[in-house]
Amino acid sequence: MERKPKYTNNRIDSSEGSTVNRRTSPSDASRKTSSETLRPDRQRPSSTSKRTSAGQRPSASAPTRKKGSSATARRIAARKRKQKQRRMMLAAAAAVLIIIVAILLIVFTSRVPEAKNLTIKSTDNSQVLTWERNGKEISYEVYRKGSEGDFSLVRTIGEEDATTYTAESLSSATLYKYKVVAVKGHKKSKGAVIEDLTTPVIAANLTANTQVEKSLTLVWDDSQAVNGYDLKFGSANDLSDATTTTVSLDGITVDETTGLRSYTYDELEEGAIYYFSIRSFCDKDKYSDWTPIVSARVTRAIDMSGIDPSAPMVAITFDDGPDGSDVTTRILDAFAEAGGHATFFQLGDHAEAQPEKIKRMVAEGHEVGNHTYDHTHMSGAVTSDDIIRANNSIEEVCGIRPYSFRCPGGESTDLIVDTCISEGMSVFHWSLDTRDWSRRDADAVIAEIKNNVQDGDIILMHNIYSSTADAVEQILPWLTDQGYQLVTVSQLLQAKNGEPPLPGITYKRADYSW
Ligand SMILES: [Zn+2]
Repeated sequence: MERKPKYTNNRIDSSEGSTVNRRTSPSDASRKTSSETLRPDRQRPSSTSKRTSAGQRPSASAPTRKKGSSATARRIAARKRKQKQRRMMLAAAAAVLIIIVAILLIVFTSRVPEAKNLTIKSTDNSQVLTWERNGKEISYEVYRKGSEGDFSLVRTIGEEDATTYTAESLSSATLYKYKVVAVKGHKKSKGAVIEDLTTPVIAANLTANTQVEKSLTLVWDDSQAVNGYDLKFGSANDLSDATTTTVSLDGITVDETTGLRSYTYDELEEGAIYYFSIRSFCDKDKYSDWTPIVSARVTRAIDMSGIDPSAPMVAITFDDGPDGSDVTTRILDAFAEAGGHATFFQLGDHAEAQPEKIKRMVAEGHEVGNHTYDHTHMSGAVTSDDIIRANNSIEEVCGIRPYSFRCPGGESTDLIVDTCISEGMSVFHWSLDTRDWSRRDADAVIAEIKNNVQDGDIILMHNIYSSTADAVEQILPWLTDQGYQLVTVSQLLQAKNGEPPLPGITYKRADYSW
């Protein structure tokens, strides 16, 4: 038992079975002793060696601790193995997951090919989209978006349908955006996008107005969001000599009340007739059609020398002349004597026959107006040619194209008004009819005037009756004695209204028109 602790210690350090067997041989004992005394140190686990070298004396409990340390090592190793296995499993799972996600991504994001060669063609109220089918068993969804709002589905094109879509009833001068999405099974393409502006429509009610000398103002109605206008004007009625001015919306005047848009030409030739047409445009060179051609005549400055606008005045007018009698000459003499001026609404054929009388009228400051070419048509039967021919004749004779028109029979029509607008003429009716043509009586004419005349009257007479010349010779001194100024119709309107008479407007008195 004395040796037992030593052997016990050694034996425990060695392989137990072999140590016990070797103990039966004495010869082995010495070898064993020497070997076994070395073995504990040799076979001691490194951890124990470290502790010994650190100064800890091996104690009786050491064998127990060595056994626990070994188990801990095994547990640690086992734990490490488990951790490694777990990491490997996690890595494998992640790899599988990545592969699955990749497959799903490929499956769900592989796109259907987009519509091929998508094009768009626009008018002022429609747009046509066309494209080519890009693959088999593909249908299409067409989405549209106006200048406001989001895309909304407007049409589905089936697998067998033509690849075209027409949008109708669109707003003019408006940007529309389309998205054509290809659909195959449950898969859809991202969508091919195309956009375009509809073209503007023609501006409405284009007119050319003139009330300021050497100036013309174009006026039209348009509320579209256009960027500007091309304005074409020339002196040929087909605009073959036209020059085109491009004006941005900033260069256009907009009436705040009516919304009407206008543009003024200055430094034009007085009395000249010009022809116009306009078209609007917006982005991307989108143009409206040209408007129908309109014409206007540049007004002249009305000579108001010697006229007091605040004093009474009348406009005496004579129709149907000048004939071959001395009536016109006597009337002109009477005016020269009394002072003041008259208006002569003359026939074209008479002007051609009596050019000197027309020239004298102009030379002495009277106004020569138009009363048609030959008086064969009355009121509603008057043609545009009746008016224009007379203007041509009178202009040929005296160099001045009339600015005033009086219709035979007195009635007016839209045709007459339109012709007068394009010729730059106002229409003059009358407020005091002397009925000189039916009475042929100077005293009756004189009485008619004396009994009825008022400031601002337009008095109707005819320079083809000698009785009329008789009446004029007597009534002019009376009128001037009464304080009436004798003025032309244009002077009357300028004096009373502060502006020249407007083309196409019918004036009955200075203060009455329709
Ligand atoms: Zn007449």
